[in-house]
Amino acid sequence: MRIKHKNKSIFLDRDGTLIKAIKKSKFKYRPPYNKKELKIFEDIKFLKLFSKKYFLIICTNQPDLKRGLQTKVFNNFINNQIKKKIPIKDIFSCECLKTEKNCNCYKPKTDMILKAKKKYKISLSESYVIGDSWRDISLGQKTGCKTILVERDQNKVIMKKKIFKPDFIIKNFRNLKKIIK
Ligand SMILES: [Mg+2]
Ligand SMILES: [Zn+2]
Repeated sequence: MRIKHKNKSIFLDRDGTLIKAIKKSKFKYRPPYNKKELKIFEDIKFLKLFSKKYFLIICTNQPDLKRGLQTKVFNNFINNQIKKKIPIKDIFSCECLKTEKNCNCYKPKTDMILKAKKKYKISLSESYVIGDSWRDISLGQKTGCKTILVERDQNKVIMKKKIFKPDFIIKNFRNLKKIIK
């Protein structure tokens, strides 16, 4: 028998979506490594409107932990600062490198969302993935969620969004209420 899951979620990318990503080369960005670099986007406060109906769950690739470029301490600090602004239900992190063969979680691989689905009994077709990169959009499409690309300074030029067509594009989280009821 198939059990219908009732809970809904908004899956959120972290770097470049909730906080400013730091440019490292033409198309590559990294997380902030220290307090001076950390900037949480103001408009994420609008996510609070949805936290009664949706679990706000972060899904984030964090390969720099393994590379030794980011510390666990600062990575946790970032997460805790975000939690002070919006009620985050859970955080799923992939700490693998993109090239690892037996990793199933590096976005757009789907493990983080599938784990969240199981843990919180989430109906994915009624859930959303919001992010700033094609990886987030692809992840959402593969898992049957609705997809929202948030335009931030760093992704305006990324052409890939034209290939990985998101269901919606927003300039700011303020605009979310037009999309999510
Ligand atoms: Mg991102
Ligand atoms: Zn992984």
